[in-house]
Amino acid sequence: MNKLLVVGTVAFDAIETPFGKTDKILGGAATYISLSASQFGVNSGIVSVVGGDFPKEYLEKLNAKNINTDGIEIIEDGKTFFWKGKYHNDLNTRDTLITDLNVLANFNPVVPEEFKNTDFLMLGNLHPAVQMAVIKQIPVRPKLVVLDTMNFWMDNTLDELMEVIAKIDVITINDEEARQLSGEYSLVRAAQKIHKMGPKFVVIKKGEHGALLFNNGNVFFAPALPLEEVFDPTGAGDTFAGGFIGHIAKSGDISFENMKRAVISGSNLASFCVEKFGTERMENLSKEEIEKRLLQFKLLTQFDIELS
Ligand code: AMP
Repeated sequence: MNKLLVVGTVAFDAIETPFGKTDKILGGAATYISLSASQFGVNSGIVSVVGGDFPKEYLEKLNAKNINTDGIEIIEDGKTFFWKGKYHNDLNTRDTLITDLNVLANFNPVVPEEFKNTDFLMLGNLHPAVQMAVIKQIPVRPKLVVLDTMNFWMDNTLDELMEVIAKIDVITINDEEARQLSGEYSLVRAAQKIHKMGPKFVVIKKGEHGALLFNNGNVFFAPALPLEEVFDPTGAGDTFAGGFIGHIAKSGDISFENMKRAVISGSNLASFCVEKFGTERMENLSKEEIEKRLLQFKLLTQFDIELS
């Protein structure tokens, strides 16, 4: 069984959507990524940090999904990373109201001994200096290193982020972030520029409009499933990334052809994530539901056409 190490925030989120709001609930990039990747039965572990205020039950929820949490440091007298966001009526855009780094501000990650030979590394959204510190603790390069990041780090820590981008194989970012990073409006040009920064594969997420996978000359497009109801988009991007790397880690295949399937797997899982607040839907998801929806993806994109 392939090993997958996930680095990212484990957080408290407070979310406001047109349908309601929550107090502090379980969130964080690493949480969503791991819950999503856990659907593939890989041997996964998280490197992150939380404060003494983080409920033990949340760690147990992750353990119940076979996610190793030995690499989540607990700083007893510190506070857990906190993010608060409010979605606009279209649910495509949101305002970040609060980002309290708390224990993340001075975090020195330690990769557990048993994950130092990880086959796959998923650098989820968090401070690029932490992402780099993790890369440096893994002596043999993993088969694939995937990076997810966001505008917050582009705005605040661009130099450090560029050093990480130079070292990874796949970057997943949303369309706005791809434009910000590259300075190009056209996503095709943006991907070309990002290739030159290091990653051979560039995945550009477009929310309810799907995702694009670029590999130098090759392009693949995966739609998002048109859903009747979207309740809370929080974590959709991370869930997509978790499904993407989970699929690849399960199969061990890093070809472009397999990455196409991985993009579909990621889109499939993200379509569930948005159906309930927070992590709730990802915690209660059956294999049958996942497979049924994969079939819907197939039907959505299949067509015949005669060429003269
Ligand atoms: P997504 O909706 O996929 O962009 O991810 C939302 C998750 O990202 C939430 O659970 C937050 O806790 C987490 N998050 C928000 N801002 C940051 C940040 N600056 N760094 C790392 N994680 C963040």
